[in-house]
Amino acid sequence: MKITHTEIYKYSIPMVPFTIATGTMHYAQNIFIRIHTNEGLTGVGECSAFPMITGETQSTCFEMAKDFALLWKNKDALNIASRMNELHAFTAYNNTAKSAFDMALHDINAQHAQLPLYKFLGGTIKKQLLTDVTVGINEPMQMAAAANNFVEQGVSILKIKLGKNVQHDIDAVTLITESVGNSIKLRVDANQGWSYDEAVYVLTALKDFNIEFCEQPMRRHNDHLLPQLKTISPVKIMADESAFDHYDAIRLIEADACDYVNIKFAKSGGILEAKEINAVCEKHTIKCMMGGMLESRVALTAFAHFATAFDNICFYDMDTCMLGHKIDPVIGGVSYNNFYVELPDAIGIGADVDETFLNKPEKVIV
Ligand code: MG
Repeated sequence: MKITHTEIYKYSIPMVPFTIATGTMHYAQNIFIRIHTNEGLTGVGECSAFPMITGETQSTCFEMAKDFALLWKNKDALNIASRMNELHAFTAYNNTAKSAFDMALHDINAQHAQLPLYKFLGGTIKKQLLTDVTVGINEPMQMAAAANNFVEQGVSILKIKLGKNVQHDIDAVTLITESVGNSIKLRVDANQGWSYDEAVYVLTALKDFNIEFCEQPMRRHNDHLLPQLKTISPVKIMADESAFDHYDAIRLIEADACDYVNIKFAKSGGILEAKEINAVCEKHTIKCMMGGMLESRVALTAFAHFATAFDNICFYDMDTCMLGHKIDPVIGGVSYNNFYVELPDAIGIGADVDETFLNKPEKVIV
């Protein structure tokens, strides 16, 4: 089955500004693609550029996507590994841009096999995917109010963005817990915001709170300090920005540097590499989370398929399009049922973008 052409869109989604330790995003810098084949099958892919974490922007993804599409013209759509190797041979890094192409090929391959993507990946039954909901950085009082508002809507797991200032962080978690009570499970994410000493200080101070884990306490270049932090911290440590691919996972696991790993296609370059990360982690009894950047429900549906296919993935951070996306241009795909992410029954990924939304953005066909 030959790839004939690829549609590429700058798929910007206006957002309520969303702040993490490393910066604020005003719109989701996404790219949407459709890969067409000579047998009539079309695969959809989406990626969400998060420059502060991956170094890619919507513009770099768009330019790379044009080169990737050209590389794949007239190539076999059913050989995912060979196609991805071509992208890796063409350019190092750029994993976010690569992930959209990996996703679209997986969509085509699952459709070709007449299976929903999770079954194509080896899954058997749909899982209950209870997502957390994220509270962005703000004044502690405002964060507590936001947390309370989410809990009143039925949220049972909150993910709190920290990492700006240690006292602010402790105040925020304290006020949130006072506001929502101790039965609500908290996850905290410092997004690399703390030094080693700050991480020790905050995590020690948070020992009596109901915190499931802390994501990425320090900058990636401080990974050598993670094993020491892990032995001191009363809160379990999840690697996020430190773990892009399975080589990172092996390095962290061999150093006994983390309890958990957060898998994101924007870091791994897509599903093929994410499978490797999960396999390495599972072998060493390290559980994984399925996470994302600011994707719409197209990519989110692919995340849900992936999380469903692998039992070792047991934490779900899949509130990406509830984080203040002002519009939802997606047809089909996952739906939220009381914060459970529910897969559609369709074959392939089972989601697409409304054609009327795609009339407006910058696009190119290669
Ligand atoms: Mg994170």
